[in-house]
Amino acid sequence: MRLSKAFIPTLKEIPSDAVIPSHQLMLRAGLMRQLTAGVYAFLPLGYRAMLKATQIVREEMNAIGGQEFHLPALNPESLWIQTGRRNIPNFILSVKERDLVLAPTHEEVIAWIAAMHIQSYKDLPQIWYQIQTKFRNEPRPRSGVLRGRQFVMKDSYTLDTSYDGLDIGYDSHAQAYRNIFTRCGLKFFVVGASSGAMGGTGSQEFMVESESGEDTVVLCPKCGYAANLEVAASGIAKVSRAGDNKPLEEIHTPNVKTIDELAAFLKVDHTRLAKSLVYRHNGKPLLILMTGNDQLNESKLGAALGGGEFRAMEAEELKSLTGADGGSIGPVGLKGFRIIADERLEGANNLISGANRNDYHLGNLDLIRDTTIDGYFDLRTVETGETCTTCASPLKIANAIELGHIFKLGTKYSEALNASYLDENGQSKPVVMGSYGIGIERIIACAIEQSRDANGIIWDKALAPYQIHLIAINMSNKDIVLASNEIYRLLNEAALETLFDERANVSPGFKFKDADLLGMPIQVIVGEKGLKNNQVEIKVRRTGERSMIAREELLSTLKAMLSA
Ligand code: ATP
Ligand code: MG
Repeated sequence: MRLSKAFIPTLKEIPSDAVIPSHQLMLRAGLMRQLTAGVYAFLPLGYRAMLKATQIVREEMNAIGGQEFHLPALNPESLWIQTGRRNIPNFILSVKERDLVLAPTHEEVIAWIAAMHIQSYKDLPQIWYQIQTKFRNEPRPRSGVLRGRQFVMKDSYTLDTSYDGLDIGYDSHAQAYRNIFTRCGLKFFVVGASSGAMGGTGSQEFMVESESGEDTVVLCPKCGYAANLEVAASGIAKVSRAGDNKPLEEIHTPNVKTIDELAAFLKVDHTRLAKSLVYRHNGKPLLILMTGNDQLNESKLGAALGGGEFRAMEAEELKSLTGADGGSIGPVGLKGFRIIADERLEGANNLISGANRNDYHLGNLDLIRDTTIDGYFDLRTVETGETCTTCASPLKIANAIELGHIFKLGTKYSEALNASYLDENGQSKPVVMGSYGIGIERIIACAIEQSRDANGIIWDKALAPYQIHLIAINMSNKDIVLASNEIYRLLNEAALETLFDERANVSPGFKFKDADLLGMPIQVIVGEKGLKNNQVEIKVRRTGERSMIAREELLSTLKAMLSA
C-alpha cells in the first residue's frame, strides 16, 4: 500500500478522552475511531490487524475439529426468557419495537439448533464456532476496545453425551487457546475463574497482566497458583475456638461506629470481631457474618447463594426492620433473617458482635451456642501477602485483562431449550455443553498494551497490519524514487506485505516518526548515501537495531528475518 493513497489518519496529540495506552495508540495510529460510548469503527489499518487475529483463531479452531457457523445477532427475546437470562443486569441490549434482543453470546441459539437436529448419541460430539459481533449493555465503557458495547467474539460450543466428553472438548479448547495466544505473540497466563452469568461447573480465564486491566488476579510467584480474585482462596487461619466459655454479655459501646473503633475501644484483635453485613437475597433479609476487617467478595456470595438476585440493604430498610443502625446489627435475637457466615468463623466462640441495639455490642458470642448459622462459605476477598494454600508462599495481587474464557456449562441451556439426545438404550438425555469465548479486539489491544514504547506501537509480525514499512527518504531525488519503487515491486512480488511511504513534501523526520508510531516490525529506509554504495538500511522496530544491506541481499534478508 502506498502511504500517499492510504487512509491512515494519525494523530500527533494524545486524545484527551483516552486513558489507557492501547486506547491512545489505537487512536493515534489511525486504527480506529469511537462512534459513541463503547462503539468503535475499525479503520483499514486496524481492520488488517483484526483479520490477522481472526485468521489465527480460525485456524486453531479448525485444527480441533471446530465447524464454523454464522449465527444471527438479532434474537427473539422469548429465547432469552426461556433460559432466564433476559434480565441479567448490564447484559442485554434490546430492540424494543420488535421484541428482539442483540445477542450478547450464543448459547441460546446453539441450544435451539441442537434441539432441532441432534437426535441420537451418534450425532455427538460436535464442536461449533463462529467469529461474529456481540452486543452488551456495558455500563461505563472507558477502556477503548477492551470493553465495547459492540465487539467481535470467537465463541465456540461443545456438545457431548457426557461430562467425560465435555472434559475432552474443554481440554482441547484450553490447548487451542494456548496455541492462539502464543501465535499472537502474547505473554499470558491461565487462572481459575468464576462462571458468572453463564452458570456451569468449572471455568478458566486466559489473562494478560496489565495495569490497564479491569480484572484482579491472585498469583503465587512460587508454585504458579493463579486465580481470579472473584474465586481466589488463601491459607488464612480460621478464628480459633477459645477454651473458656463465658456467658453472653452486653457491652456499652457509645459512639463506636466502625470495626477499627470497636477493636480499639475494646482492646481486642480484629479476629475476635464478628462483623454483620445485611443484604436481601430474592427480596428476603440475609445476614452475613465476616471476621473483623475481611472484605465480602460478592462473586463468592453469588456462588454461595446459588443464583437469584441479591443486594446490600439500605440503611432505612434496616432501621425499620430491626430498629438498629448498620453498625449495631448482630445475629443474636434477630428475627426474619437467614444467617450465613464466612468459613473462617466456623464454630468460633468468644466473639463480639452487634447487639441489635444502638451503642451496644454483645461479648462472648458463641456461634454454636447462641445462633443458628445456615451455612459456612468462603466469602472473603484475598489480600496481598496472604499465603498460598498450596505452598504457603506470599500471594501477589495484580491487574489483568481477560482475553478468553472457557466454561464447562453442563446442561443448563440444553435443559431450558430441550436440546436432548437418545442414548444407546433409547433414553432421552440433555446434551452436555461447554462454551468458550475469545475477544478479538482484546487480542489487538493486549498486544499493544504489552508491546509499545514512547514512540508508538511495536507489532509482532503475527498481528502486524503490514510486515514492512518502506521509507523513501526524499522523493525529489530521482535515484531514490527509482530504487524505492523497484524495491516496492520486488517486495509485493514476494508477497511481503509492505506499506510504502513515498509521500512527497514530507520530511524524513516525519516519516521516521510515523513509521515508529505505526509500528510495523521492519523498516526499510532508502536514502541517498546508501544508494551510492548500492545499499539500503534496515531498522528493526522492536530493538531499534540498524544495518546496511546490499540491495541484492535485501529480499533474502527480509525473508529470513520474518521467518525467524
Ligand atoms: P468481562 O469479565 O471482562 O466482562 P466476560 O466474562 O463478560 O468479560 P465472556 O462472557 O466470558 O466475558 O466473553 C468471552 C470473551 O469476550 C471475553 O473473554 C473477552 O475477551 C470478550 N469480551 C467480553 N466482553 C467484552 C466487551 N465488552 N468488549 C470486548 N470484549 C469483550
Ligand atoms: Mg469472564
